[in-house]
Amino acid sequence: MTLFLEPRTVAEAVACFRDHPEARCMSGGATLVAMMNAGLADPPAVVSLRRIAELVGIAPAADGWTKIGGMTPHRVTAAETRLAGGQAIVRLAAGRIANPPVRNMGTIGGSISFSDPAADYPAALVAADAEIEVVGSGGGRRIAAQDFFVDWYTTALEPGEIVVAVHLPPAPRAAAAYEKLVKTEGDMGIATVAAVVEMDRGACSDLRVAVGACGPHPVRLRESESDLIGGRLDADAVARLASRLAEALDPVDDVRASSDYRRKVVPRMVARAIATARARAEGEQ
Ligand SMILES: Cc1cc2nc3c(=O)[nH]c(=O)nc-3n(C[C@H](O)[C@H](O)[C@H](O)COP(=O)(O)OP(=O)(O)OC[C@H]3O[C@@H](n4cnc5c(N)ncnc54)[C@H](O)[C@@H]3O)c2cc1C
Repeated sequence: MTLFLEPRTVAEAVACFRDHPEARCMSGGATLVAMMNAGLADPPAVVSLRRIAELVGIAPAADGWTKIGGMTPHRVTAAETRLAGGQAIVRLAAGRIANPPVRNMGTIGGSISFSDPAADYPAALVAADAEIEVVGSGGGRRIAAQDFFVDWYTTALEPGEIVVAVHLPPAPRAAAAYEKLVKTEGDMGIATVAAVVEMDRGACSDLRVAVGACGPHPVRLRESESDLIGGRLDADAVARLASRLAEALDPVDDVRASSDYRRKVVPRMVARAIATARARAEGEQ
C-alpha cells in the first residue's frame, strides 16, 4: 500500500524524503497517477505538493525576472499575459500542451521533472534562458535550463530534490514564437522549436533558438546564434543556423515520425519561428 503524504510547506516536503527516500513527488498527478494505474510505478510513499500554497502562481519581480511556482498549472501559465517579450515563449509553449483537461491538471514543476523530451516546456525554457530552482535536504540551488534536461526522462535533480520554481530572466524588447508539429492537435510534438528574437533598428541584437522532441534533450547552438547577432537575419544566415541545428539533433524513429522526417522538417520550422518572432519584435504582428 502506498503512503500518501500532504506536507504544507516545502521544508515539510523535503523532510518527507528524509523519512521516505523511495517516495515520489506528486504535482498535478497527470503522469504519475497514470503510471501507477498502469503498474509502471509503485512507490512506497507519494509526497503530494498540492497543499503547499507558496508553490502556486506567477510573480514578476522588480528586477524584471519572473518566477513561476512549480505547482502552477499549464492553464494558468498559458493565460498569463505578464509573460511578455522574450518570456512569452513559456506562455506560448504552455498553450500548446495537450488539451484543456491536461492543462488544468499538469504543472510546470511536474512536467519538467518528468522530462519527457517530447514535452513542450523543455525547448521553451532553454530558449528563455530559464533557471530551475530546486530544494533538497542540502538546501536550495538554481540550475540553468540547458543543464537541467540531461537525457531521456533524466534531469539534474538529485534524489530527494524538489522543483519549486522556474525563473525567467527579463527580455522586454524581445519577442517569441513557438512552433509545434503534431500528427493530431493535442498530441505531443513530432518536433518543437522555440525562438526568442530581439531587433534593434533592423539588426538582430538577441537570438535564442532551441529545438525539442528530436533527441534526449533540447538542442541549442549558442555559438551559431552569435554569428547572427548584429546582422539582419537574412534568409541565408537563418538557413545556416537552421541546418546546423538539424545536424546537431539526435532524433529517433518512433510512433510519431521517423528520424529522417524530423531532420527534414526542423530547418523549415526554425526559419518560420525566427521570422514570426522577428515580425513580432518589429511590431508587425
Ligand atoms: C493525455 C496526456 C497528454 C499530454 N500531452 C502533453 C503535451 O502535448 N505536451 C506536454 O508538454 N505534456 C503533455 N502531457 C504531460 C502533462 O502536461 C504533464 O505536464 C505531465 O503529465 C506532468 O505534470 P504533473 O504536474 O501532472 O506531474 P506528476 O504526474 O505529478 O509528476 C510527474 C513526474 O515528476 C515527478 N515530480 C512531480 N513534481 C515534481 C517536483 N516538483 N519535483 C520533483 N519531481 C516531481 C513525479 O514524481 C513524477 O515522476 C500530457 C499528459 C497526458 C496525460
